[in-house]
Amino acid sequence: MTTTKTFTMIKPDAVTAGNSGAIIKIIEAHGFVVSAMKLTQLTAAQAGQFYGIHKERPFYNDLVDYMSGGPIIPMILEKENAVEDFRALIGATNPVEAAEGTIRKLFATSISANAIHGSDSHKNALIEGDFFFSNLEKMK
Ligand code: UDP
Ligand code: MG
Repeated sequence: MTTTKTFTMIKPDAVTAGNSGAIIKIIEAHGFVVSAMKLTQLTAAQAGQFYGIHKERPFYNDLVDYMSGGPIIPMILEKENAVEDFRALIGATNPVEAAEGTIRKLFATSISANAIHGSDSHKNALIEGDFFFSNLEKMK
């Protein structure tokens, strides 16, 4: 049984709405262990760097404004098959398409303000975890 890790952050809409506790409860109830967590806020430059892969997309500037516009809660999570299982738990990017019971179905308000991030690969989980918790050896 291989335990692996993923990276998540609760986005500004969900933190501001007071949904952080409910979201963390769901994450833990599905067997994920929180191994690093903090509350912080990104500068626009940091949000732009984090989402740099989307630089050419039409929604990039709005995404940077939104992600730097309020508090976020980044976390490193541990579980067997963490990356895939966590993407399933958060649901589709657009809450209209997200399956019943997923975090985005429950808490997202739009395709941009969609409550939570989840890394899409082990490689990106390492990069994204290091972005917020570079002082830890957690993802190594
Ligand atoms: N996003 C958006 N409009 C879109 C697609 C994405 O505002 O049409 C935002 C949304 O917050 C999403 C993030 O950009 O979570 C990153 O997009 P991606 O396609 O990587 O979706 P995710 O991996 O978060 O499901
Ligand atoms: Mg993505």
